[in-house]
Amino acid sequence: MLFSELPLANPLQRAVRAVGYETPTPIQERSIPSLLEGRDLLGIAQTGTGKTAAFALPILQRLLDSGKFRAPKTCRALILLPTRELAIQVEECFKQYAQFTAISTACIFGGVNDASQKRNLVRGVDVLVATPGRLLDLIGQKAVSLKALEFFVLDEADRMLDMGFIHDIRKVVALLPQVRQNLFFSATMPDDITKLAATILRPDPVRVEVAPQSTPIERIRQELYRIDKRRKGALLKELLLAHPEMKKVLVFSRTKHGADKITRVLEKAGVKCAAIHGNKSQNRRQEALGNFKSEKIRVLVATDIAARGIDVDDVSHVFNYDLPDVPETFVHRIGRTARAGKDGIAISFCSPDEEQD
Ligand code: AMP
Repeated sequence: MLFSELPLANPLQRAVRAVGYETPTPIQERSIPSLLEGRDLLGIAQTGTGKTAAFALPILQRLLDSGKFRAPKTCRALILLPTRELAIQVEECFKQYAQFTAISTACIFGGVNDASQKRNLVRGVDVLVATPGRLLDLIGQKAVSLKALEFFVLDEADRMLDMGFIHDIRKVVALLPQVRQNLFFSATMPDDITKLAATILRPDPVRVEVAPQSTPIERIRQELYRIDKRRKGALLKELLLAHPEMKKVLVFSRTKHGADKITRVLEKAGVKCAAIHGNKSQNRRQEALGNFKSEKIRVLVATDIAARGIDVDDVSHVFNYDLPDVPETFVHRIGRTARAGKDGIAISFCSPDEEQD
């Protein structure tokens, strides 16, 4: 199937061509037609599968079709998701796909001053991408209302529950109009997520489950160093100094404090690096990410939550400075390398207290 065969309006077809997509990914092929018919959707998929376009394109099409117009301080579609990085990225996708339409977008998230976010909402927006805390905050301030909402997307539901957003999600859902189209995405479906989905989706939603778009795990060379915890910083430094081919290196740390410590060790050794985690301001995080993408810095140290959803090409090496607790996180981390057909190397540091049978 080609995008041109999907019943999407010309401005959307043009945008898809402009971003260089030709064939829909499996989740897009299986979701878009049903979403265009107005069905609810339960999508079991993670970042990297093309899920953003799978929900953004049909929502944009239906916004164009519905003949309604945004009213002041309201939104017509709400995308609720866990982190600022993901919010920025998802809004960016909507902007790209809507570039030849008059559809407006806005993005709101915590950790930054809310003045410009409020200004963007004054005249109302078609698509609002938001993290839950700041959304509820701005609703409380009467800067935005959900009463005119037509489309609701909950993205990365499992991650949101992990991050303790369940009460905020319930509060938001209680504010939504009864009649609406719902899309619910989660990488995994444990019981609590299934229950949550049932409270949001109308009965009999379309269910689409896709495996992560072949993160070619076979192409990732994995190395393991068994090492004392206190020696990890020195080993990382030694490896980076000895191997100039480690050009674009992502280091995962379990804690924010750990991430800062690692950058201090590397900076002292003259390795250009930066850390991204929840205690860094939004601007600092975006700057670090930009510098990493453009290779002004060689090493980006990240916590799992901060790194979630970040899309960086050509990562040559991923270091698991600390081992994550769950296998999914491990796969997600090392999947940041060996993208787009390239090879990649994942190096894990394992201290005796991290070893399990
Ligand atoms: P996502 O899972 O939405 O984060 O998308 C992962 C990446 O795939 C993004 O960089 C998208 O721009 C890209 N992408 C999404 N759909 C397609 C497509 N049909 N063809 C090529 N690339 C795509």
